[in-house]
Amino acid sequence: MRKNRLLRPSRPSRPFNGLRYLRFLLLLVVIAGLYGYLRDLKSPEIKVSPASGLLSARQPLTLSLLDSGSGLKSLRVIARQNGQETILTQQEFSGEKRREVVLKFEETGLSDGRVEFTVEVRDQALFPWGNGNRTQQNLTLTLDRQPPQIERISALTPVWQGGAATIVYKVSEETGRSGVEADGLFFAGYRQADGRYLCIVPFPVDANPATYAPKLLAVDLAGNETRVSPGLRLLARKFPQAKINVSDAFIAGKTEEFQALVPGGSGIDLFLKVNRDIRAENRKTLLELAAQSSATPLWSAPMLRMPRAKTTGAYAEARDYFYSGRRIDHQTHLGTDLASVAQAPILAANPGKVIFAGYFGLYGGCVILDHGLGVQTLYGHMSNLGVQVGQSVIRGEEIGRSGNTGMSGGDHLHFEVLVGGVSVRPEDWMEEKWMATYILDPMQK
Ligand SMILES: [Zn+2]
Repeated sequence: MRKNRLLRPSRPSRPFNGLRYLRFLLLLVVIAGLYGYLRDLKSPEIKVSPASGLLSARQPLTLSLLDSGSGLKSLRVIARQNGQETILTQQEFSGEKRREVVLKFEETGLSDGRVEFTVEVRDQALFPWGNGNRTQQNLTLTLDRQPPQIERISALTPVWQGGAATIVYKVSEETGRSGVEADGLFFAGYRQADGRYLCIVPFPVDANPATYAPKLLAVDLAGNETRVSPGLRLLARKFPQAKINVSDAFIAGKTEEFQALVPGGSGIDLFLKVNRDIRAENRKTLLELAAQSSATPLWSAPMLRMPRAKTTGAYAEARDYFYSGRRIDHQTHLGTDLASVAQAPILAANPGKVIFAGYFGLYGGCVILDHGLGVQTLYGHMSNLGVQVGQSVIRGEEIGRSGNTGMSGGDHLHFEVLVGGVSVRPEDWMEEKWMATYILDPMQK
């Protein structure tokens, strides 16, 4: 019985079966792989950006390649210009599904002008004939690496700190963006119907006169940039200083109003949060509102000063805040305070459009008018608002009543003139000669 069992061929057949199983598995894997390649009948996708228009050193050609089946194999880009063909790039891939290729044009043999491109992409599929699926895209774009030329028309102009001046210039081609940049700020140049650009440039009081260096910038539609001097002679100016005592009675009187701005705040902390954080937030909003300015000037006269009002707070006053004899804060007063009787009529300083009417942090009840070319006026601490956003007003029209809302210690108007969202010296703008010399006359050049 034992012997018979040993003679059975069942034992040697076991390793043999295992090997067959392995081979079978291997075959399955190969078939599955082949099927994967053969099954991929879908051609790769090409997305080109920009698909039309202009190319430059700053605006390269970006190719986004995708093959969700067998993966990418190769890319070839051919450029055709003036009857000549150039291979811009030829690349092999190892089956990745996605690839982004950026073609730059600083150092190609191509000249500026029209270029016809042929983009050819293949995938790893074995069908047909091992060449893979092929996608080809033809497109025509214009290469423009020539920066725009700026011709400044306005004369060399002195600008005192807190002041502003109009510069006038022309650009040799259509621009995507132009204006003056300085200290991370941008003051837009506005193109007029006759092709000239008008740009009003402020010299902010908080800028460092030693380092403030505005540059006139033009960017063409292909992204080429040119920077030149705006022709401004910047002159430092001294501003007054003031001490302000913050009393508990003042804080108590404002607590309810300020808690709407800083929920849960109280005491001197609440005062400081409004005086620092809300103030900074408001300044940021003013820079944003500048973008809504009209491209043409809506005014032609000096800014109207609040009638029969006394100046109770000077522009650019450097204010030290004291609480119980201790210095707790320092801020610059970026407007002129004007006081008349309580609830006095507030008049539009010049024709314009209402771009803000509502409660505005530090300024309480507030109206902001846009006069065009980045020039705006702000009316703060009002008790009553008589206008709505979008409404047009004429010079001298009543826009509301004075009050004591926001960071204010008595009924008065806080008046600001803003250029590109930056506060400038209101007294300049109320003066006929100053307005003519620095702002309006240069526009006629
Ligand atoms: Zn003020």
